[in-house]
Amino acid sequence: MERRSHEEVLKDIEMMQTIRKRVMNGDNVSCPKCGERLIFLDKNSGKHPGIFCPNGDFEILIEYDGL
Ligand SMILES: [Zn+2]
Repeated sequence: MERRSHEEVLKDIEMMQTIRKRVMNGDNVSCPKCGERLIFLDKNSGKHPGIFCPNGDFEILIEYDGL
C-alpha cells in the first residue's frame, strides 16, 4: 500500500472546504463517492453538525467555535 502524498491530502482538504462552502450557501452538492445529494445538518439539528451523504459513505463534521 502506497501512502498518500502530502499534495493528495491537501487536495482532499481543499475539496472538502469547497463542498462545505457550497452546501452552507444552499447549493445542491453531490456526494463525491456515490453522487447522492449531500445533506447539511446545522447546530440546531440535535446531531453533530456537518455534511453527510444519505448512503453513509461521506461526511464532513463541522465544529462551531464557542458553541
Ligand atoms: Zn455517497
